[in-house]
Amino acid sequence: MALVVHKYGGSSVADANKIQRVARRIVEVSKLGTGVVAVVSAMGDSTDELIELAHSVSNSPNPREMDLLLSTGELVSCTLLTMALANLGQEAVSLTGSQAGIHTDTSHGRALIHRVDTSRMQKELEKGRVVVVAGFQGITEDNDITTLGRGGSDTTAVALAAALGADRCEIYTDVDGIYTSDPRIVPEARKLTEIDYDEMLELANYGAKMHPRSIELGGVYNVPIYVSSSFNDTPGTLIHCIPGNANEGEMENRIKATGIACTNNVAKITVRGVPDRPGVAAALFEPLAQSGISVDTIVQNTSEDRTTDISFTVSGTDLPAALSKVEELSTEMGTCELSSEANLAAVSVVGSGMQHTPGYASRMFRVLADGNVNIDMITTSEIRISCIIREEQAQEAVKLLHRGFQLDEPNP
Ligand code: ASP
Ligand code: MG
Repeated sequence: MALVVHKYGGSSVADANKIQRVARRIVEVSKLGTGVVAVVSAMGDSTDELIELAHSVSNSPNPREMDLLLSTGELVSCTLLTMALANLGQEAVSLTGSQAGIHTDTSHGRALIHRVDTSRMQKELEKGRVVVVAGFQGITEDNDITTLGRGGSDTTAVALAAALGADRCEIYTDVDGIYTSDPRIVPEARKLTEIDYDEMLELANYGAKMHPRSIELGGVYNVPIYVSSSFNDTPGTLIHCIPGNANEGEMENRIKATGIACTNNVAKITVRGVPDRPGVAAALFEPLAQSGISVDTIVQNTSEDRTTDISFTVSGTDLPAALSKVEELSTEMGTCELSSEANLAAVSVVGSGMQHTPGYASRMFRVLADGNVNIDMITTSEIRISCIIREEQAQEAVKLLHRGFQLDEPNP
């Protein structure tokens, strides 16, 4: 039997009417004889509201209690959707993350899925039921409820699709696909019909709204992920492993820019006078990793006088925590001098195999220079070139790059 996993985001189940519309959509698919597992997020902004409530009764809510609280948002939407399905005559059952067999580690608020025991879901599917699963949550070996991190229902959906061997995972959201850039900033942005996991990962990391871990999982388990609107039937974007077609005479044309990504709220920390000896970078970054602060761009200068400078970026939200960790360390090392800067942004040109095609980096720098945008730091990977710039110039930079890389022109 064909099997699909659907995922409906918070805006798609924001009220009773929307839940009924989702139910009708699921019934249409189920009527064709396709098995459906539907993963839902909490209704509208209810997760934000729960977080606010928690902070109104406590200065530092306990992470275990916080997870149990937040998991209730998804219980509301998944039970309501199941009732709406039943109301249309469709047999369905709602399952919490733990009932669906989603086992995670113990890191509350950012739990990683260890394994999925699909037996209960499979039993329900065999009975011809639609299985509605509360997204974003799982359970530890000690039976504590965890959540996967904000936006984590995408990851629930792809994990279930992988574990169940579903034909594909369909993510229904309030945008109708993946664009060459953020359409709110670049009106000429085009919808992509397909994109590969690596490129999407860069675009998701850099603004497009999908939980990056879901795309990583999709890539590892080769789950095709179709992203489209839950409000209309316009075709969306398929994230999958794009097969090269050697007969199409466009072998190396595949190598082109796919999109322009942008992350705001980037902050930079510079540590000067770091002793140039083995182990120093590890000593600097290990405490950050242990506190769950993720570091993005890292630049280390060549050393002079046996000391060096290291600059790196973190999310602006993590800046105070990161600074205090680095301060501890620099006091230990004695010699270092610290500075930081907030209100930066990272703009990136993303596309498969760019690094092997000359001219991409220089084109990016030329476009930014002509727009009078100063570049603070630069990093490259196989599929992306990123520049750290001032946040106030980010929108303009994205527009210029979108035009500069001819992304507004349809594919040949
Ligand atoms: N409801 C959770 C959140 O708002 C999870 C999700 O939407 O995927 O972050
Ligand atoms: Mg949400």
